[in-house]
Amino acid sequence: MSELPSEQTLKIVDAFDLPETIRFLLRPGEMVKDAAGRRHRLPRYFYEIPSYEDAMAIRLTGNFRLNEFIRVDLREAEPLREYPRYVPCAVRITAFYLQRIRDEIGSTLHISVNGGYRSPAHERNHPASPHMWGTAVDIYRVGTSLLQTEEQINRYGMIAERVADEMTAFPFGQEPGSTDDHLHLDLGYLFLVPREVSEDRMEMPQETPRFAWEERRGKDRRTS
Ligand SMILES: [Zn+2]
Repeated sequence: MSELPSEQTLKIVDAFDLPETIRFLLRPGEMVKDAAGRRHRLPRYFYEIPSYEDAMAIRLTGNFRLNEFIRVDLREAEPLREYPRYVPCAVRITAFYLQRIRDEIGSTLHISVNGGYRSPAHERNHPASPHMWGTAVDIYRVGTSLLQTEEQINRYGMIAERVADEMTAFPFGQEPGSTDDHLHLDLGYLFLVPREVSEDRMEMPQETPRFAWEERRGKDRRTS
């Protein structure tokens, strides 16, 4: 079923070397503007996920699987809905923070469809949002409670921001930068450059595609 060389080892790719259709949609290294008009550079290094089964099997932390961060619907560009799928390597950092918040709350956190990584081509990413970096999540349910009231959204948002200063939670509201039917959490515009890649300045496709395998470390990555 899986062609991964060993269980849960992730392939890291330089998006400049991906097939043109995919590269055109991911736009590695390009500058985009957020809602405030600030410019940010799009990520370049991605995990390549061969199949749905792999996405389900790969555990980023004790309670979060990779699959939870990449669920999208028709609002995502079609080539990016098919496997292999691509997600910025920073998703690992997001999962780490989310695990801390989950531990603090003591209940399961459910990320909505389109609420994890969304590509620059996704209909909901205009203007740019940290979802395009894999550093944002939209939580629609905590345990069995749907997040639909001001009290709940602000309460869990405060917990998340207390766990980590670098975490931003949108307050309850209808204006841009607020939410009324989920909790948006993000870490801003982070990159993760995996230690296994060799960075160079050649931001153009290479004859020999550049990729690396993530080294195995720690028990968190093993399936249970
Ligand atoms: Zn969001």
